[in-house]
Amino acid sequence: MVVTESPRDPTRRTRHGALFAEDGAHFDFVVIGSGFGGSVSALRLAEKGYSVLVLEKGRRLRAPDFPKTNWNLKRWLWMPTLGWRGLFQMSFFRHVTVFSGVGVGGGSLVYANTLPHPGDDFFAAPSWGHLADWKAELAPHYATARRMLGAARNPRATLGDETLRAIAADIGRPDDFSLNEVSVFFGAPPGETVPDPFFDGEGPARVGCRFCGGCMTGCRHGAKNSLDWNYLWLAERRGVRVQPDALVTAVRPLEGDGGAEAPRYRIEATLHRGWLRRKKLAFTADHIVFSGGVLGTVALLGAMKEDPRGLPALSDRVGHFVRTNSEALIGVTTGRRGVDLAEGIAITSILHTDAHSHIEPVRYARGSGFFRLLLAPHASGANVFARIGSAFGNFFRRPGRWFKALFVWDWAKHTQILLYMRTLEGTLRLRRSRGLGTGFRRGLRSTLASGARPQASMPEATDLAQRFADKLGGVTGSLVNETLLNVPSTAHILGGCVMGASPEDGVIDHRHRVFGYDGLYVCDGSAVSANPGVNPSLTITALTERAMSFIPRKGEPSAPA
Ligand SMILES: Cc1cc2nc3c(=O)[nH]c(=O)nc-3n(C[C@H](O)[C@H](O)[C@H](O)COP(=O)(O)OP(=O)(O)OC[C@H]3O[C@@H](n4cnc5c(N)ncnc54)[C@H](O)[C@@H]3O)c2cc1C
Ligand code: SF4
Repeated sequence: MVVTESPRDPTRRTRHGALFAEDGAHFDFVVIGSGFGGSVSALRLAEKGYSVLVLEKGRRLRAPDFPKTNWNLKRWLWMPTLGWRGLFQMSFFRHVTVFSGVGVGGGSLVYANTLPHPGDDFFAAPSWGHLADWKAELAPHYATARRMLGAARNPRATLGDETLRAIAADIGRPDDFSLNEVSVFFGAPPGETVPDPFFDGEGPARVGCRFCGGCMTGCRHGAKNSLDWNYLWLAERRGVRVQPDALVTAVRPLEGDGGAEAPRYRIEATLHRGWLRRKKLAFTADHIVFSGGVLGTVALLGAMKEDPRGLPALSDRVGHFVRTNSEALIGVTTGRRGVDLAEGIAITSILHTDAHSHIEPVRYARGSGFFRLLLAPHASGANVFARIGSAFGNFFRRPGRWFKALFVWDWAKHTQILLYMRTLEGTLRLRRSRGLGTGFRRGLRSTLASGARPQASMPEATDLAQRFADKLGGVTGSLVNETLLNVPSTAHILGGCVMGASPEDGVIDHRHRVFGYDGLYVCDGSAVSANPGVNPSLTITALTERAMSFIPRKGEPSAPA
């Protein structure tokens, strides 16, 4: 095995395009993507004695690589055509704008650390409730996921939390407000380093959280329990190879001589070695775990289904049953002097406004004001003219407040983003676009499959945001495409390779095995087969823990189906 760099050290940078696995090498398992599904899979498979390669299209980013603020677009955004290979990706579709994370650690690098447990409706949802007793079966895996991700109660209530708590009292739900469980290390004083507190000394040294609010641009202090500090760290110590900068473009079954030792699949990837420098790589494997997140896995499997030399026998359901958490993101900006809404971790608390709806205050670190460029007055209304009228109304009802809000020096210090989520049934379909590109390069487009079209503006969210704004003397804004087009944004895209009893209604079975192809699995957000109604990473982690628990140790027979 040729390895050109030593295993990871979270405090040091790596070179781009370094090769960590020999081109042409064979592995028991190749894992595509290193987010929640991919990292859990890699560790559990290595513990069972398998050789594992993780292929990740993004960079391996370490604390010094993360931008100080999101004005550093080159370090923050994933826009490889411009040479920007940061950690945050925005993908624009007709029905939704999707935010996601890229890099070794996937969405955990940018996520806001929140680990809520879904309500009972999720486990019993008709879309998958008949396939297993999800609540009982997943309970031990949720416990493992919480332990591995270092879940802890946020200890510090901020101005945003106190404002939300006051709203909870106003709407008669004071007991439904609580500080969140998050994957952040609070066990040492801010900024202080202590030896591994989580894995009996096998994990890395950790630093106490500084409550700087920078979690969504990557923690520069080593306090956020992103996957590179737990699952991936332990996986690499058990021999897992992680190859960053490697975009998987094809998966093909091999027509060997049929012998038991013959590899079953060929995985093709493109290694990024510089802005215009690429290298083609290929590996073989007996098993593959698809963990590229919804957009990555659906794009790859969709392309392979259309390719006669790819995986044409995949279920026709690839790309179906895509859900969001039906989110509304509304920014409240106040021109009041002396406020600091950037203090704290990225998401600090939650208010359950009814059995199906929740709202959380979200923040960026001081200085991170990029989104002010994309903001317009928040508006509601069925068509574009009504929304433009509503936006003007919003502005002219409080011109003084707007004037102050528009000219605040540090937008993040003066702004709280309110994330409202609800369990609404309704699905989209992601299909391959007819236009530009060939093969894997062709993008995805969305169509409405069932239920109502996702909406950026929801009356309850608007009302809660206005209450929040009134308490702080502020105004409410949304991304301009939400105000004009009513296209919502989501950081919680789910489904697209959902479970079913047969290939007629799903892409995978309840053990995440792909119908039609032996040895292929899907473990990531695309396998989530109902709407959890809350932030999904804990659930993706628990589902993957369960999926991996069915895989036998190397050399042992499989458990019966
Ligand atoms: C700003 C933001 C804040 C969020 N906050 C929270 C939160 O507080 N709590 C929560 O629960 N969730 C949060 N989320 C959502 C969470 O990040 C995702 O739900 C989660 O990361 C999805 O996990 P996954 O395993 O499906 O894939 P991901 O974590 O998205 O990982 C997929 C990985 O695969 C890689 N990949 C894709 N295609 C390929 C390919 N062809 N070849 C190689 N690599 C590929 C991608 O680069 C990526 O690194 C947030 C998301 C964002 C964007
Ligand atoms: S608040 Fe700051 S120190 Fe704490 S986890 Fe987030 S980025 Fe790291």
